[in-house]
Amino acid sequence: MQIVLFGPPGAGKGTQAKFLSEEFNIPHISTGDILRENVKKGTALGMKAKSYMDKGELVPDQLLNDLVRSRLEEPDTKKGFLLDGYPRTIPQAKALDEIMDELNRKLDAVVNIDVGTNALVKRLSGRRVCRGCGAPYHIVMNPPKVADVCDACGGELYQRADDREEAIKNRLAVYTKQTQPVLDFYKKKGVLIDIDGDREIEEVKADVINALEEIA
Ligand code: ADP
Ligand code: ADP
Ligand code: ZN
Repeated sequence: MQIVLFGPPGAGKGTQAKFLSEEFNIPHISTGDILRENVKKGTALGMKAKSYMDKGELVPDQLLNDLVRSRLEEPDTKKGFLLDGYPRTIPQAKALDEIMDELNRKLDAVVNIDVGTNALVKRLSGRRVCRGCGAPYHIVMNPPKVADVCDACGGELYQRADDREEAIKNRLAVYTKQTQPVLDFYKKKGVLIDIDGDREIEEVKADVINALEEIA
């Protein structure tokens, strides 16, 4: 199964991706996680991306297109994949079409997790992320069993620099302006699945899995 997980920052893409990746046994490819790894390691890509990420701006399309192309060429994606956080602009969506053509593949579905702005701000401002494995938690709505420690890997939880108030506002504005138009692009292709993401994590999970089992 070849899936794009779509939605504004804080919609629950990373949270649901963890479940889906286990359920369907396909790799979870989060461009945000890959970029943060590169920033941490100080690679050339990380150094180019950092200033954009800290401000909540999008990293230039070309860098993302190259990153995704080389990731999708890896053999573990042959059984399928779950793209999280890409494409985020119309040029990225067109580039993904080309990449898929070159690899002789096709997208099965774009799952759009829909959540209202007020809920997004609450989710992002209380988010904590594992330094080890990137798993997302929420201090109130999805706390770890032990404070500040990842349930999955024991890693330390931290607050992302872009989950502070100023950057959150900018990211939501960037989403509306640059990313939301991508929804129409996929609607026209007939691959868009809308999910109400403004509910409990377990309810959203059941809905997404049901929807994907229908098309599998
Ligand atoms: P995204 O990857 O789309 O930015 P995350 O999966 O990181 O979103 O979730 C953002 C924040 O909201 C995290 O703190 C997460 O624990 C929390 N969260 C995710 N899904 C829900 C939900 N259905 N209800 C309440 N909080 C949620
Ligand atoms: P969130 O989970 O809150 O939606 P991500 O972890 O997906 O955020 O992305 C964090 C940051 O990484 C973005 O604000 C942006 O700077 C950069 N980024 C990630 N994916 C892309 C992309 N497809 N295009 C451009 N920038 C990206
Ligand atoms: Zn962890």
